[in-house]
Amino acid sequence: MNTKLRGWLSRLFVKDYNCIVCGRELAAPGRYRLCSPCYVLMEVIGERTCLKCGKMLFAEEQYCLDCQNNERSFDRALAPFAYSGSAATLVRRLKFGRQRYLADAMANLMTDKLLEAEILADVVIPVPLSSQRQKERGFNQSELLGEVIANGLNLPLDLTSVRRVKDTLASSGLTGGRRAREENMKGAFVVTDKAAIKGNVVLAVDDVLTTGATMNELSETLKKAGAKKVVALTFATTSEKPPIQEGY
Ligand SMILES: [Zn+2]
Ligand SMILES: [Zn+2]
Repeated sequence: MNTKLRGWLSRLFVKDYNCIVCGRELAAPGRYRLCSPCYVLMEVIGERTCLKCGKMLFAEEQYCLDCQNNERSFDRALAPFAYSGSAATLVRRLKFGRQRYLADAMANLMTDKLLEAEILADVVIPVPLSSQRQKERGFNQSELLGEVIANGLNLPLDLTSVRRVKDTLASSGLTGGRRAREENMKGAFVVTDKAAIKGNVVLAVDDVLTTGATMNELSETLKKAGAKKVVALTFATTSEKPPIQEGY
């Protein structure tokens, strides 16, 4: 067998029959392409979450401290996993390792999280990258996820009605906390086709939700253009730190 053909076959094989985390061969090609030992180790987000941002809660509250103290433009955010361990590794492999084949299984996990919450949407809009950033990376990871999600839910995928016009610094590189991150995002998105947004429940798709500054700015822009609701769906979300047990 020539090497080109073998390479092609092995990629095909990895895509369908191996665990996307450890590479172990799966007994059957499942929708998530995760073996049980790997899935068990992932930090699955269960029922006890903030009703707004979907992050795990450690106190008897309905909303996390962030959502209690800050304005959120999106109506709801959901993610199947906390941004830790293998879930964080998968996000990095998709985005920086350019392992695009991961998008299928990751998007299936996201789709099922949305269905579980019984949330309906009208249109899928992946968080856009600036054209400069997209050119550098060669692809937009949110677009890869959004495409599979839109397909699975039989919803239109809208890649043209919102553009990112401002290149923003990576949030992690900013000092000055929340205010600085929000300032940095101001005016980052522009709706180019209001008619496509007006009156619709938008499912905004991204790989990860951290501070929520990006999703907040995008949602605000969509709402100003007449979106009825914005639901944010990401593969992973950072979690609040559990409180320190006093007396220990
Ligand atoms: Zn595995
Ligand atoms: Zn919250």
